[in-house]
Amino acid sequence: MTLPIFRMIDDMQQASQAWQSAGLRVGLVPTMGALHVGHLSLIEALAPYSDKIIVSIFVNPTQFVAGEDLGDYPRQEAQDLSVLAPNVVDAVFIPSNDEMYPQGFATPITPQGVALGLEAAQRPHFFGGVATIVAKLLLQTKANAAVFGEKDYQQLLVIKQLVRDLNIPTQIIAAPIMREKDGLAMSSRNVYLNKDERKIAVQLNIILKALATSTLSPDEASALAHTQLLGAGFTAIDYATLRDAQTLQPITQASPSRRALIAARINNIRLLDNMPCP
Ligand code: AMP
Repeated sequence: MTLPIFRMIDDMQQASQAWQSAGLRVGLVPTMGALHVGHLSLIEALAPYSDKIIVSIFVNPTQFVAGEDLGDYPRQEAQDLSVLAPNVVDAVFIPSNDEMYPQGFATPITPQGVALGLEAAQRPHFFGGVATIVAKLLLQTKANAAVFGEKDYQQLLVIKQLVRDLNIPTQIIAAPIMREKDGLAMSSRNVYLNKDERKIAVQLNIILKALATSTLSPDEASALAHTQLLGAGFTAIDYATLRDAQTLQPITQASPSRRALIAARINNIRLLDNMPCP
C-alpha cells in the first residue's frame, strides 16, 4: 500500500470529506517536517480520537522574520516520508508556499490574550503566523481532532484559544514532551547543536526542574534560573519564569496551577522547555 500524498488543498479536502461521509473521524498532526520521535508520539496521542490520521508538513514562512532560520530550517521530505509508513498514518499533506499563500492573500489572524508576552515578547510576528496557518490547515483538512505538543506550551494555549474564539469545530489534544535520555526536549533544531553546545543544552532541563520546584518567591526563583543558565553557558535568556498554567499571566495566590517556562539561546540556537509545577 502506498501512502497518499496530497499537495493541493482541493484534493486534501475531498479526501477528508470522503472519509467523513463514511462516518470516520479525521485527525491532523501539523508539523514543519524534520520529523523526530516527538512528532511520532503526537500520532500515537491522536490515535484514540481519530479513525484517519493526516500529517501535514509545511515550513510556514509567516512565522519567521528576516534574520531567523527560515532558509536554513531543516527540510528532508524523502526521509520524513520514509518514517511515515502507511500503517502509521493515512495521508500526508505537503502544500507549497504558493498553494498556502497565493497572490492576494490578505487575511492574517492576529491573536491576543495568551498570545501576548513570553514568545511574543521576542518574536511579535510569531503567533500571528502560527494562528493563521493552523486555522487554514484545520479548515483544509476538515480535522475533527488535531494534536499539539506541550513542548510549545504557549502555542498549545494559543491554538485552544483560536478554535474557541473562531468556533472551529476541531477538538484540540495536548501531547506530552518527548525527551532524549539526558532530558533534553527533542526538537528539529537540536541538529544545529555542536558537541559543546549540546553539553550546555542538557542543563536547560535541570535548571527548569529547579525552577518548577523552587520554594523561593517567583521573582527570586526566576532570577536564580537566569544566573544558573548564564553560568551553564547559555548566551542569552529570553525568559525563565513561573506563570499561571492557563492564562500565562504572572502567578497569584489564586492561580490553580503553575507552569515553569524557559526560552534561552546558545549563540544563535534558541531552545525551549517547560513543565508543570508540582
Ligand atoms: P514543529 O515541527 O517543530 O513545528 O512541531 C510540530 C508539533 O510537534 C508541535 O505541536 C510541537 O509542539 C510538537 N513537538 C515538537 N517537539 C516535540 C517533543 N519533543 N515532544 C512532543 N511534541 C513535540
